[in-house]
Amino acid sequence: MQADLRINARWVIPMTNEGASILDQHAVFVKDGRIVAIEPQSETTRTASEIRDLPDHALLPGYVNAHGHAAMSLFRGMADDLALMTWLQEHIWPAEGQWVDQAFVADGSRLAIAEMLKCGTTTFADMYFFPEGTATSVLESGIRSVCFTPILDFPTNFAQNADEYIRKALAVHDAHKHHDLLTFGLGPHAPYTVSDGPLRQITTLADQLDLPVQIHLHETAFEVAQSIEQFGCRPSRRLADLGFLTERVSCVHMTQINDEDTAILQHSGSSVVHCPESNLKLASGFCPSHALTSAGINVAIGTDGAASNNDLNIQGEMKTAAMLAKAVAADAAAIPASKALHMATLGGAKALGIDDQTGSIEAGKWADLQAVNLSQLPQQPVYDPISQLVYTDSSRYTTDVWVAGRQLLNNGELTTLDEDKIRFNANQWLNRIREA
Ligand SMILES: [Zn+2]
Repeated sequence: MQADLRINARWVIPMTNEGASILDQHAVFVKDGRIVAIEPQSETTRTASEIRDLPDHALLPGYVNAHGHAAMSLFRGMADDLALMTWLQEHIWPAEGQWVDQAFVADGSRLAIAEMLKCGTTTFADMYFFPEGTATSVLESGIRSVCFTPILDFPTNFAQNADEYIRKALAVHDAHKHHDLLTFGLGPHAPYTVSDGPLRQITTLADQLDLPVQIHLHETAFEVAQSIEQFGCRPSRRLADLGFLTERVSCVHMTQINDEDTAILQHSGSSVVHCPESNLKLASGFCPSHALTSAGINVAIGTDGAASNNDLNIQGEMKTAAMLAKAVAADAAAIPASKALHMATLGGAKALGIDDQTGSIEAGKWADLQAVNLSQLPQQPVYDPISQLVYTDSSRYTTDVWVAGRQLLNNGELTTLDEDKIRFNANQWLNRIREA
């Protein structure tokens, strides 16, 4: 059987469930968008119609950005250095009320996708209004996405009440359910913005339709204190009692957690999405990622939106996660580089419920791959390619990205998106927002 593509790499880093291994001088073969084999270059007898040589590169799974709000890239740098609730109530929510519609979401998502592809991300999770706008940009670019339609009790430009958000979430899921690159899930915004009734309904629908669910949870001490005052218990306890926390659910942030919260997560099988830079910037607190992974809880990495980060670079996030884990655990061995890389690849895919499709280089999975050139000065000498990927500024040297075998970044150039047009559109929005 002739493959469509053979990629010869200096190092192939598959990142399977067996852990991090490094294969020297191996070739990855792709057919019909999927990986068919990984074999030593000198021994393989397979043929391919296209060959790509990467003599100085690490070939690894594309990063999975497990939480974000892509369209908010158009608000990047608009309001910085503020606490979460001030930032949301006085800046972000009013701006969203004024500007967010389907065109804004499509333009903002395009900007975000271009940035993510150039840094090696092949799958991103999104939680934002007008998800049809996100879908347009996803399909145009060829990236993979899991879009969680937001659900809240209160009105926005997108919907008036929880019923309408849920109706719209189901409609967009129905419209795209046969598309390989797009998965639609349910995104109840947070325990403090969604009441018990809709949370129960979301759980039932997710079970019936086999949908992933994502929620912001335990983001700040204020959220926990408010829940104790209003419901008599911590948010994780409330969600567990509602039957909401299951293996389908990814809980974003999880700062401010105690032993009971950890036990609840362990019991539920829910994943945690750690967004260290957003938590640091909003002074929200620290997710004890080392304690969580030690308890057997799956932890993924997300950038959150560009308005609270302010970049969408998973490599940087991975480094911050590893560094922060050591400081929080007072243990330099906490979250070693290989674990951080797992969180940014297969751990992310698992959190989004697509680890049977992507997140590692294994025969049968989609060819969602990235190549990083490790021959540049900041990576010399290469004792350990995984250390260089995680702890140095390696994403600057991401050269190639494939999603489902389609090359979306070729020698640093985007193949499906027009960078000049994206820059022009971003500045159009800047001018419109500034003049208002
Ligand atoms: Zn978020």
